[in-house]
Amino acid sequence: MAATEKQWYVGEDGCISVGVSASAVTYHSALNSIIVSTKEPSVKIYDVASGALLQKSDLSANTTDAIHAMYLPGKDKVVFADDQSVGARNDLRGMLLLDTALQTPVSRSEDQVKVEIPLAEAGQFHKALMNAELPGIDHVDEVCKELEKKIDAVQEATKGHLKAAKWATICLKLPFSTLKTVCTGLVNEMKRLSMNNPGLSVASSIGDRLNYLLPNNGEGWSNTVERSMMYSEVARQKTFRTWPHMNYKWALPDPMSQAGFYHQPNSMGDDRAMCFTCNVCLVCWEPTDEPWSEHERHSPTCPFVKGEYTQNVPLAVTYGSQPAKRHGENEEKIECLSTTATENFVATSTLNGNIVVWSVDKILKKYCQFNLDPSSPVIALKTGVQIERQSTGSPSVSESVNGVNSVQDETDARLEERPEKVENGSSPEGSEEQPTATTSSTVSPDTVYELPQEKVDKSDVQKTRNRTM
Ligand SMILES: [Zn+2]
Repeated sequence: MAATEKQWYVGEDGCISVGVSASAVTYHSALNSIIVSTKEPSVKIYDVASGALLQKSDLSANTTDAIHAMYLPGKDKVVFADDQSVGARNDLRGMLLLDTALQTPVSRSEDQVKVEIPLAEAGQFHKALMNAELPGIDHVDEVCKELEKKIDAVQEATKGHLKAAKWATICLKLPFSTLKTVCTGLVNEMKRLSMNNPGLSVASSIGDRLNYLLPNNGEGWSNTVERSMMYSEVARQKTFRTWPHMNYKWALPDPMSQAGFYHQPNSMGDDRAMCFTCNVCLVCWEPTDEPWSEHERHSPTCPFVKGEYTQNVPLAVTYGSQPAKRHGENEEKIECLSTTATENFVATSTLNGNIVVWSVDKILKKYCQFNLDPSSPVIALKTGVQIERQSTGSPSVSESVNGVNSVQDETDARLEERPEKVENGSSPEGSEEQPTATTSSTVSPDTVYELPQEKVDKSDVQKTRNRTM
């Protein structure tokens, strides 16, 4: 019988020694590799075809317990969790940025942060810094020295190991303000001199990562269109919430933002779209207009259209490098990381029944948080597992695995309900994206777009394109 996608089969019987006590194994089908969680804590990535160790990392986990790891095939995403935090990683050109997967944002600009970049990009960043003249920009030497030290160490460690070299990354550990000052200074200087080389893209992507690592410094832009942030495809995508042409064939939010456009209407129903780098401004989009073609037709010299290196930070880079988020503010441990009834959400739970539902469709986001009583008879009725509450107030789980599953099942059940029905629930982060629909498997929050209140009367609009450079 031929194997279908849902069936497991043994292609070749074999065994890989991981050397330490393993707590869980996850298969990453897109990378054809296995992710082994160990109790150190660390994860090890093995190439399935050769058995070669591709990378080992502690993920910046804070605890001494094992790390949870779960691959979501439909999203091509790995979700990690330690005792306190949850992180998500899409692959970045065939590799995962593991060393920062569980790094959470900092609260002060003087705090030390880690920025992880592939080895090749580290070389490009170093070259750009060495070639640039940055008078008046502090800390350039400090960043250059850190780069040189890390590049040398990684090159030495991966010498002669071709597969491991492909996964080689360097992890800069410096104060947030140091990296931010140097990256901003370098990007501004390269833009001023129109130096469209790889160093510009790398410096820009590091700057973008830093915005997420000090949230008040960047994640709060979502309700206003700040042109200076539009180099990020994620930021451009968010501007299209009131795009008036959701029924068009090509000129839709995702293709538009991928083609460099962001939406900046002057009035409700306005379809004014601008490029993040060349300043072309297009209005009166037609149903069959294709974003890339229109961009090229109206701005053929745009460096982004010409395929040159720009400040652009694609979705894949943001999704592959985003920081982790904390389950809650107290020290209660995450006991369970689970899938839910839909692919767009995962859930984490503590033993006391504090549950967070995470949206993993795009940027990892806390969707809702609520409490349930794991010793409640309602849960026992549903799962057949009775959890007794001890005098300390903590639940006693006689069958720990089943106990965790009972929480997980209840979470799935809650996902069928409207968010306002959850008990003791807190508001999801980023209320601007709060869905109004139920989170059933047929309705995705991020596919619900707000349609304009008024439709544009095309007869009143001049049928020509405005172009400003
Ligand atoms: Zn352009």
